[in-house]
Amino acid sequence: MLAGGVGGARFVRGLREAVRRWHPDSSIDVIVNTGDDWWLAGLRITPDLDSMLYTLSGQNDEVRGWGRVGESERVSAELQAYGVTPDWFTLGDLDLGTHIARSAWLRAGLTPSEVVARLQERWDLGGVRLHPATDHEVDTHVWVASDTGAEEDMHFQEWWTRYRAQVPALRFEQRGVADAAPSPGALAALEAADVVLVAPSNPVVSIGTVLGIPGMRDAVLAAGSSSATGRAPIVGVSPIIAGAAVRGMADACLTTIGVATGAGAVARHYGPRAAGGLLDAWLVDEVDEPLVAGLRAGGFAAAAVPLWMRDLDTAAALAEAALGAVAARS
Ligand code: GDP
Ligand code: CA
Repeated sequence: MLAGGVGGARFVRGLREAVRRWHPDSSIDVIVNTGDDWWLAGLRITPDLDSMLYTLSGQNDEVRGWGRVGESERVSAELQAYGVTPDWFTLGDLDLGTHIARSAWLRAGLTPSEVVARLQERWDLGGVRLHPATDHEVDTHVWVASDTGAEEDMHFQEWWTRYRAQVPALRFEQRGVADAAPSPGALAALEAADVVLVAPSNPVVSIGTVLGIPGMRDAVLAAGSSSATGRAPIVGVSPIIAGAAVRGMADACLTTIGVATGAGAVARHYGPRAAGGLLDAWLVDEVDEPLVAGLRAGGFAAAAVPLWMRDLDTAAALAEAALGAVAARS
């Protein structure tokens, strides 16, 4: 699976449950967006990987929707009082433990992939393996118009967390992407894959960022080369229902790249594999059922199923529908 943070984690949790119930011989590898990662107070912060880690290990705060359950913010208050971290970005004390461990291992010479593997030794993720999309530092920057009209950029976290994506973005930049490559774990997982799932994550700053790493798109399209079937179908799930992002602010990102906030528009943005795009199949919500005929005519094996992940059962049913989407082509 290719995934971002919170939306991706919900879907992976559903997939893990579907695999437990109906495909006990299968395993799950998740290639996680690293574009949101940044350095803060000398620590490497990796929000999407940590959302995965905490959600899959049951340590996440279900009420707040992100971070660790039972969290306190005493250290962050000190850091803000010193002016070391901005007042719009709070780090929980338990979460800081993860960041300190990660940063210590990075300084000791481990790669980001090795760090993620080591973090997973502590937490039981129920058989799911997480891989950073890349071991290179490729942070997403957002270009905006300043008060004087000049263009200036800020780190994605500032645009997303401080400005809540309300400052119109002119474009997104994956800083340093030209020198990057997919992580070894991501490449190995794709080679062995029976099916590739594109999570209902942000199509621009989560999935778009993963696919923007040189070599990733080709590796995804070639997925399954060492699997029994030789070619893995690629199935996407829409993060857009009835013309709106289910949770979050994905619409602001889509607007910037000129894609309408619609389940059909996002599918066409990814494109059908048959016409040089990415996807074999695309799932839309039941309320978007009128889009299905057009999507099928456009080269997608499309189906309308319940797309809201309200709990484990609905998320598992959605994951199972995604696994069956290609077989159900009509
Ligand atoms: P982030 O990295 O934490 O922003 O999370 P992702 O990029 O993985 O996912 C964000 C997207 O998940 C949002 O654009 C939402 O539209 C989508 N999303 C969240 N919950 C659901 C859900 O229950 N169903 C579907 N289909 N999409 C969802
Ligand atoms: Ca994210």
